[in-house]
Amino acid sequence: MTDGSQGEKKGPAPKTALSPARRLAELPSHAARALSILEGAGHEAWCVGGFVRDALLGRPCADVDIATSASWQAAQRAFEDAGCRTHETGTAHGTVTAVVGGTPVEVTTYRVEGAYGDARHPSQVSFVRNIEEDLARRDFTVNALAYHPARGLLDPFGGAADLEAGALRAVGDPQERFGEDALRILRACRFASQLGFAIEDETYDALLSHKHLLARISAERVTHELDGFVRGAFVHDALMRTVDVLAAVLPELVAMKGFDQRSPYHIYDVLEHTAWTLHHAPEDPLVRWAALFHDVGKPASFFVGENGVGHTYGHAAIGVQVARGAFQRLRLPSAFCDRVTTLIAHHDDVLEPTPKAVKRTIARMGGDPSLFAALCKLKRADALAHGPGCADRVLLAGRLEETLSRVLADGEAFCRKKLALDGNAVMSLGVPAGRAVGAALAAALDAVIDDEVENDPASLAAFVRGWAAEQADLARARQSGE
Ligand code: ATP
Ligand code: MG
Repeated sequence: MTDGSQGEKKGPAPKTALSPARRLAELPSHAARALSILEGAGHEAWCVGGFVRDALLGRPCADVDIATSASWQAAQRAFEDAGCRTHETGTAHGTVTAVVGGTPVEVTTYRVEGAYGDARHPSQVSFVRNIEEDLARRDFTVNALAYHPARGLLDPFGGAADLEAGALRAVGDPQERFGEDALRILRACRFASQLGFAIEDETYDALLSHKHLLARISAERVTHELDGFVRGAFVHDALMRTVDVLAAVLPELVAMKGFDQRSPYHIYDVLEHTAWTLHHAPEDPLVRWAALFHDVGKPASFFVGENGVGHTYGHAAIGVQVARGAFQRLRLPSAFCDRVTTLIAHHDDVLEPTPKAVKRTIARMGGDPSLFAALCKLKRADALAHGPGCADRVLLAGRLEETLSRVLADGEAFCRKKLALDGNAVMSLGVPAGRAVGAALAAALDAVIDDEVENDPASLAAFVRGWAAEQADLARARQSGE
């Protein structure tokens, strides 16, 4: 397959034959127990939020959230009386975490949020006695559902119909909802990418007209949502739909949109090519973040040659600079940022599927074979996202992976750690401590990779002695020439 628009496409929103009674009747035992503990103590309680949404969609869901009429103190008492440990995780907002049957369950008192002074934090939270009021403060209709095994599904905003239709719609007036909490803007983009839902038009208009408020959201929260976005199974459609919204936090995307590469190898503009690359990449954050930024340097490096064909020489190196700036702004952890930018730097390298070329590339990438494996995945996704005619590049990615497996199985050296000689041994051969030791090991690794010397202590010692003598000759020649 060469065309990103065919074959593997994960397709539009999944249409699920909803059967709430069946799907939700089998409540996980810890959730059912948590409800009965609260109700046994005289309170009302419901399962709410993402748990109900995901259960109805038949998606796996890690956390169970419970909303209750009990104050957090009363909820805590009920669980402790029933022999469950509790943690005071968010008592200012009415939340305690109870550990039920070994599983944590978040229990929150029915509440509404007061005015949002800053589009970020409600200036106060008030508790209410009524689940309907609690559901009304939630972000999207599909997240404003409550379920109880005896009372069934409570759905005051048409969330089940929106789940069925695959629609993401704000609860109430979308302009107000995004105005009061801008994080919801990125949650919408993330849910579009994770669930494959289409953002309803009025909700989309409100996302666009409130995106400037994202400047007030902390980098950590922005990045948390973006990470969920890039890892989504429906990221292609979500990126194409929300790029103008995401531009507020990822301005790097803007130059990619509509950018015609004027190349016979590309049938898409840079943004759509990027969206397909994300789509074809495995759901591994390392490869997905690299896919998002791999061609970000193209607009800046673009020129048209005499024959009218576009070229982007050096776009990988420019992309590294652009990505570094973005990752610092987003406060991505620096070790992760280094790995992603290494992938970007090498994504367009022309590699032969030979052990020598593979080992040399691993060495140049810092000696980590798992990073080379990620590079193969990125290269495959990138090739699949080109126009037709790039099938050979898809095959090449597979051959590079096979070669890597052979290199690993044969225990071949591709980094200094794998040499049968370490820095101390190099110094004991008379190489002075400092930079020269690293240079000697680098030269020895090159020679081993090129099959010029065996990877055993005696052969390497002889090589290093020869190398040191050559260096000394060179130094003398330089001195006498001065
Ligand atoms: P997931 O856990 O898969 O990210 P979720 O919908 O469970 O999705 P959480 O952040 O766990 O998201 O929040 C639980 C519920 O709380 C949501 O389903 C929604 O009802 C409500 N909620 C969370 N964040 C907001 C918000 N910023 N504005 C309004 N409601 C929110
Ligand atoms: Mg959740």
